[in-house]
Amino acid sequence: MRRWSELAERVAATTRTSEKTGLLAEYLRTLDQDALRIAVVFLTGRPFPEADQRATGIGWATIANAVAQMSGADRAALAEAYDRHSDLAAAVGDVLEGVGHAPPPEASPSLPEVAGTFAEIEAASGPARKSALLAALLARADPRTARGIVRVLSGELRIGLREGLVEAAIARAFEHPLDAVKRAGMLTGDIGRTAVLAREGRLDTAELALFHPLKFMLASPAEDAAEILRRLGPTVWVEDKYDGIRCQLHRLGRDVRLYSRDLHDISGQFPEIVEASAALPWDGILDGEILAFRDGAVLPFIALQARLGRKDPPPSLRAEVPVIYVAFDLLGLGTGPDDDLDADARTVTPLLETPLRERRRLLETLDLPLIDGGHGAFALAHLSTADSRDGLELAFSDARARRNEGLMVKDPTSPYSPGRRGYGWLKMKKALATIDCVVVGVEVGHGKRHGVLSDYTFAVRDEASDQLVTIGKAYSGLTDAEIAAMTRWFEDHTISRHGRYRVVEPRVVVEVAFDVILRSNRHKSGFALRFPRIARLRLDKDPAEADTLETVRALYEGLQAGAEHLVTAGARKVVALAAGSRQRRTET
Ligand code: AMP
Repeated sequence: MRRWSELAERVAATTRTSEKTGLLAEYLRTLDQDALRIAVVFLTGRPFPEADQRATGIGWATIANAVAQMSGADRAALAEAYDRHSDLAAAVGDVLEGVGHAPPPEASPSLPEVAGTFAEIEAASGPARKSALLAALLARADPRTARGIVRVLSGELRIGLREGLVEAAIARAFEHPLDAVKRAGMLTGDIGRTAVLAREGRLDTAELALFHPLKFMLASPAEDAAEILRRLGPTVWVEDKYDGIRCQLHRLGRDVRLYSRDLHDISGQFPEIVEASAALPWDGILDGEILAFRDGAVLPFIALQARLGRKDPPPSLRAEVPVIYVAFDLLGLGTGPDDDLDADARTVTPLLETPLRERRRLLETLDLPLIDGGHGAFALAHLSTADSRDGLELAFSDARARRNEGLMVKDPTSPYSPGRRGYGWLKMKKALATIDCVVVGVEVGHGKRHGVLSDYTFAVRDEASDQLVTIGKAYSGLTDAEIAAMTRWFEDHTISRHGRYRVVEPRVVVEVAFDVILRSNRHKSGFALRFPRIARLRLDKDPAEADTLETVRALYEGLQAGAEHLVTAGARKVVALAAGSRQRRTET
């Protein structure tokens, strides 16, 4: 682990990607199989592989307790160090150096020992036991190694690495084409296993495995119809953007499993979809959205919320909030039960590199039990094409009339890129764009909100510096129940207090709506949002998926480019934003 931590700091110290890749490749070549698998997973900033359902369940408070317990350092010193660095790992390193923590080098834990302790921490119940396990591990680690351990545990690597770079390093270390590494990574969904296959020269044996969820393809926000046509035109594919929860459906024989966006098994929450899929005559993987749907119409997201997290929902809840699966993609397809093969002998052909047009054609041949006269559990995403701004705007208002959130505009020639946010899919929603931000600070509110932490300061990710940079502050637009629950969470995850303001662990993603983006020195990002509102909590999103400074810049430049034509749900309003001015004129 000491060598891993040294490497992480050397990688952080250079901004040149070719140098980062070189350093990583050189290091990876020296590792045996076990250490390689672990080192690579740690380099993606995770204690466990991404598709692993485990999480250490450890937060800032537990890490701080472990450090205090082991070193005798004061918690206030840690909070102060955090304020200096805005980085927990750096703060822990500082504090340990400050108290002269220097265990003998031979005690330093190996990568498998660190991974083993992470597994024990996950299995331990209660913060006291977790903290004791971590304290024992940190006691053997010098300050730099401790920094490395905390970087991985907190999920805040901050060394300017993205998965693409780690893949490039694997390719370079074991002398394989980058495409072969990427392909194996896509199919296995596990970068540690991919590295081991590369080391053994067996990348071509990687297969799509059912019941190992693939990462989901992501969409980029689009400012307006003109930008969409510029990027994906002249003719684009337009699907409704459904307001439910993303879900990957795997089916083999009569076994069916549903996976959420964060790759958790959620089959137990939606028995009606599992039951309806069991009799399908094929094996394969669907991508789609689960929606609350009753009497032939989509119910608002808030209705679906009653079903989230409820395993084995009682019949009364199933009747009150029935759900359907809206399929929009097919990621793998195999033969079905008709061919009498044992489950082990069945294979599923990956379709990730097949163009969307063909994937959709195959999806439409699957005989899904579509909703018909109130029966059935499936629907196919509404699909049309558009080749003009007016066409897109019409599709947008039609989608809204069907009670959907907006549009997903897709390039019909695009492959399915797991885990990537490219320009193959663009989302166009609500009247104006929204961005996903990470809450970094909270304050008690005013008036009826005086007892709760309802004012949020939020940030986007600056990929160049791998830091969160603030962009605004807003009173929460959440429900009272959500604010109360979040208040408890923020209280438990406060890092330091400054009068009314608390710095909190940067873990919560919120979707922020706004009217205009402005240049401003008030926030670290150099931008501010006009009339920001918290539109929704995004507990399904990881902070690493928050929007980036680059996206904000692109949206800002889009707005500057001229008048924007935007369509709202009911009346068609055209909001003209005079370029460069802060005036807004509304014409109906
Ligand atoms: P957002 O969650 O705002 O980043 O928007 C992306 C999400 O929209 C996806 O993760 C899906 O859950 C959802 N979505 C709804 N309809 C579609 C569709 N037709 N195609 C792809 N994603 C969709």
